[in-house]
Amino acid sequence: MGDRRDLAAVHRDSGDARSVTWRGGSGSDLRDHGLDRKAPKPLNRVLRIPSIFGFARPRLESHAATMDDEPIELARCSRALGYPAGRSFWFLIGHSSTHRKPIPTMRRFLATNPHRFFAVTGMFLLASLAVSAEWSSVTRHSGWKQHSMRRPKPTVVVPADAPGQPPADAVILFDGKSLDKFETPGGGDPKWTLGDGYFEVKPGSGPIVSKNTFGDVQLHVEWASPDPAIGKGQDRGNSGVFLMNQFEIQVLDNFEAETYADGQAGAIYGQYPPLANVSKPPGQWQTYDIAFRRPRFDTAGKLVEPARITVIHNGVVVQNNEVIYGPTSWLRYDPYAKGPETGPIELQDHGHKVRFRNIWARPLPGRAAVDAVETAPIAVVSVPAEKLKSYAGEYSLNTRPNSPPLVVKAMGDHLMARFPNRVTEMKLVPIGDGVFQFTETDAKFEFSPDGKTLHFHIGGDTRTITRRD
Ligand code: MG
Repeated sequence: MGDRRDLAAVHRDSGDARSVTWRGGSGSDLRDHGLDRKAPKPLNRVLRIPSIFGFARPRLESHAATMDDEPIELARCSRALGYPAGRSFWFLIGHSSTHRKPIPTMRRFLATNPHRFFAVTGMFLLASLAVSAEWSSVTRHSGWKQHSMRRPKPTVVVPADAPGQPPADAVILFDGKSLDKFETPGGGDPKWTLGDGYFEVKPGSGPIVSKNTFGDVQLHVEWASPDPAIGKGQDRGNSGVFLMNQFEIQVLDNFEAETYADGQAGAIYGQYPPLANVSKPPGQWQTYDIAFRRPRFDTAGKLVEPARITVIHNGVVVQNNEVIYGPTSWLRYDPYAKGPETGPIELQDHGHKVRFRNIWARPLPGRAAVDAVETAPIAVVSVPAEKLKSYAGEYSLNTRPNSPPLVVKAMGDHLMARFPNRVTEMKLVPIGDGVFQFTETDAKFEFSPDGKTLHFHIGGDTRTITRRD
């Protein structure tokens, strides 16, 4: 059904590196990019943009298709301002299987199709608000309905009394007394020096690694560089905290001392300088609070999601959820390679007597995946138009005088509701006698048989709302 000569833009996610491929002008064909040869299948969503100042009324429809065997969503635009009658163009809205970047940048599309500039800009001026509200919400969310009562609730964790101290579920890696949670990479006892409440690198003895291994993890580490300071540049209070023994958060004494940016304390070594230099003087205890999300690979070993690291140094964010290029390496960038899903915390011996204390970690759980019950189509029932209209009206959410109403309208075979001070109307579909379900929220309106009240069920609570007229 699509006019393939008008297929305009393709947006692909190759997994390990985002690649965006565009084709413009006549002759372009999404099939070049793995689009299934079957015609796109219309979805049941159509946007009609109101005519303004007598201009054309663009029409936007969404369609399901597959590309490289992945479900995608295409938008078809027709009747756009300045666009030839009977012609339409297509663009990719997003992968329904992912939630990233649902709406492609139009810049290159416009640049390669200058004759379409006015058509597209005219249409988008009219449609941008409606499109972003309608489609971004469809393609971006997790799949869980808002406020879903079926969504697993977080585990209760008792926090510590003071910042920096371990919460109840933390794995204590060093409590000031013993190095028995660490070993050498070969499995031997660490040779590092145990002091009063701390331990210290024994230069030349090699790194130590935690016996516990971690994937996604929150890690707290305290460290202090030698006092008085010795050396300069990278040869000054150098150590490091390696996550999954691959990704180094640099430990260095660069307090009032020069070195390169991506080798300073708090750097993701060789990749990202810290966002601020918050180093303390030699000998003073410093803190790292690290959040790490491990890289993900598919079963074939291909990277599907790079590692991410956040670092808070002495209470200041110095790494903000940075995307990691690959394992830490010196003088070059090494690519990712699939390995075990967890690895030890490694502390580096760089020949300097750096001290450590108060080390603890919390393995971080994954997000609960949405299931088939949650995403099953809503079992909609049919309601006579007159009955549907009887629910329309204004309702009071509270008893305050002059408070704006909840407005309910009948539209086609469903209801639309606009809450006070909200721009967007929400769709409710009938699922029973007088019962209407929100489409993207785990919530219901249940009208009383006399139509005078409605019960608003949401998040395990019920609010009773009265009709005004
Ligand atoms: Mg280092």
